[in-house]
Amino acid sequence: MKAYTKTLSIIVPCYNEEESVPLFYAEMKKQEEFFHSKDVEFEFIFVNDGSKDRTVEVVRELHEQDERVHMVSFSRNFGKESAILAGLEKATGDFTVLMDADLQDPPAILPEMYQYIEEGYDSVATRRVDRKGEPPIRSFFARRFYGLIRKISKTEIVDGARDYRLMTRQVTDAILSMKEYNRFSKGIFGWVGYKTKWLEYENVERAAGETKWSFWKLFLYALDGIMAFSTVPLSMASMFGILFCVLAFVFMIFIFVRALIYGDPVAGWPSMVCIMTFIGGVQLLCIGIMGQYMSKMYMEVKDRPKYLVKEEF
Ligand code: UDP
Ligand code: MG
Repeated sequence: MKAYTKTLSIIVPCYNEEESVPLFYAEMKKQEEFFHSKDVEFEFIFVNDGSKDRTVEVVRELHEQDERVHMVSFSRNFGKESAILAGLEKATGDFTVLMDADLQDPPAILPEMYQYIEEGYDSVATRRVDRKGEPPIRSFFARRFYGLIRKISKTEIVDGARDYRLMTRQVTDAILSMKEYNRFSKGIFGWVGYKTKWLEYENVERAAGETKWSFWKLFLYALDGIMAFSTVPLSMASMFGILFCVLAFVFMIFIFVRALIYGDPVAGWPSMVCIMTFIGGVQLLCIGIMGQYMSKMYMEVKDRPKYLVKEEF
């Protein structure tokens, strides 16, 4: 077998992907020729994120045929972010690429991505220009999320950005140097910076199986993203505080002057109740926001492992 001088590590998080893994592997085989001509060899790293189906067996079969296929298998489902981290940690390549098992990250554009790395880019990222085949309600909230996080975070987080990304060793190491427990990759990629080329493509629907993300899971993930890359919600309490102080002062003068002119008839119970419940609500909201950040801090401080490995080859 011819030896190649460079290695490209292909990291594939898999959660119940027994149908997709062989399809994915077959598609990647088609890209082999191009990379071999560039003196680059593949290294496959499938990360089994606690699948309940035959994903592990399927990957093992591939490993028996092809020694470039490796696997990290978790003790349970730790989520895609942990799977990405485990894959990046195991990767030995000069380049790494993150790809979904379901072929939604088209392998066909990988050669083009590699050409940009050759041109001197440090990482090549991809974004979908449309959200075809996605429930409209999900697209709507996804758009609102990106609109909001762009306003309140200094880190660049791009709408429609995929995790499909080809990176040099330098960028990979930069990502690995971020040790946080609450990992939000789209933010981490933006945070590390480096010269990034954005490629666009039209949304591709899943090759097999179904999406692992419910609306609720995505909503919580969006909140994680906001908390990991913005502290603006935390300063909301101070902003409300200042606003209410000003309002209270104006109101005080108004009451005082009115009392001087018209005397002081006891009235205004309904308005009092409205004001009290409103301010009570705002206070609880602010405490709640602080609680959210505190719970994140609690998890960071505990410093638990981000995943546990059951088996590896
Ligand atoms: N995935 C994972 N752990 C999870 C959920 C998903 O490793 O808890 C993997 C999944 O197997 C797939 C990728 O992450 O390779 C993207 O998941 P999916 O296709 O369900 O998300 P979507 O493309 O619908 O956003
Ligand atoms: Mg998918």
